[in-house]
Amino acid sequence: MSANLEPNPQSELVTLDNLQPPTKRSLIGLSREQLGAELVSVGVPEKQARMRASQIWHWLYIRGAVDFDQMLNLSKDLRASLAGKYSVALPEVVTEQVSTDGTRKWLVRFPADGKTGPVEVETVYIPERDRGTLCVSSQVGCSLTCTFCHTGTQKMVRNLTTAEVLGQVLLARHRLRDFAGMEEDFDIIGPAEGRKVSNIVMMGMGEPLFNYENVKHALLIALDEDGLNFSRRRVTVSTSGVVPAIYKLGEETRTMLAISLHATNDTLRDELVPINKKYPLDQLLDACRAYPGLSSARRITFEYVMLKGVNDSIADAHKMVELLSDIPAKINLIPFNPWPGSEYECSDWKQIEKFSAYLVTRGFTAPIRTPRGRDILAACGQLKSESKKAAS
Ligand code: SAH
Ligand code: SF4
Repeated sequence: MSANLEPNPQSELVTLDNLQPPTKRSLIGLSREQLGAELVSVGVPEKQARMRASQIWHWLYIRGAVDFDQMLNLSKDLRASLAGKYSVALPEVVTEQVSTDGTRKWLVRFPADGKTGPVEVETVYIPERDRGTLCVSSQVGCSLTCTFCHTGTQKMVRNLTTAEVLGQVLLARHRLRDFAGMEEDFDIIGPAEGRKVSNIVMMGMGEPLFNYENVKHALLIALDEDGLNFSRRRVTVSTSGVVPAIYKLGEETRTMLAISLHATNDTLRDELVPINKKYPLDQLLDACRAYPGLSSARRITFEYVMLKGVNDSIADAHKMVELLSDIPAKINLIPFNPWPGSEYECSDWKQIEKFSAYLVTRGFTAPIRTPRGRDILAACGQLKSESKKAAS
């Protein structure tokens, strides 16, 4: 059976067939309790469910298994019944691009979910001397329309599931041979604590705090000490300022927080980061002050995109000093990354340096972020996929 077969140049051809949800549920992203319940549903005795769930957890998150047949301490019968109903496969990689600076970008495809067709997002790996950072997407598109951001021009298609958010981390670790026992097949600069992916930043496509529950569950699994075991200070959630969810994030995950500030007064911020109309600067900064566990070793990162003639004057820098005076903060100055059709220009390098120096002499850490992976359009704000909403 098929529908929507009229050719429509504006949207992907969608048939009812490719809107069918995948037949096998992924076990990736389930909590231990949920995993235990699924095991009981395939006949594992209640008494054994916890132990078996821990074994599977170990295979998925420490050993990087992608197939039940790799799980050698499960009986053949159990492996077969699990394989009949569930999947532990990694997401599909459509393309992998490697920049001249070593940055990698993957276009990742997730299957139709019954409401939208297959969707695509981007995940970026940025190797540095002392760390390897994975920039993870939380949504397909974004419901917000920050005027300088490429993702903001793409319609919001859907939230990613917990499995899809976490799947990006597992996928990157696989492609980088970053699970114990995997052989190196190329050199990656700078593993931190023996890992190639040492840091996770929720700075890919989408607004993570508009997909709060799924992002939270994925990060809690990434932080789990008996699994992926990422350090809390190496996991950062970036938000344009969804104030109520900032309070929840602090209480429920205690990850690091990054705020996309970009303007120091409400009039300009209303224009650049429209969610400011709902949650203006005073409310946003109150939520920052209340974020748990802040200290000079655990500071909030304020991201500030440098837009020529828009937000880059020394008066702006002065206002920023005033706004952030009572918050343990570091400021990341991001040279604007242009994209096809963007309306802004990046500030002159000299002006960015002056802006940074002004902040530094007033006691702030204010590095200028070097754009990475520009040649493969992998830098901040350049991510965009061709995924479209399903035609209705
Ligand atoms: N939605 C979240 C996270 C994704 S964007 C957020 O807005 O925080 C990650 C960072 O890239 C944000 O600080 C965002 O403002 C910034 N950014 C977006 N477009 C950019 C561009 N064209 N140049 C530089 N930084 C950009
Ligand atoms: Fe969405 Fe963040 Fe881009 Fe704004 S900057 S449109 S919140 S992804």
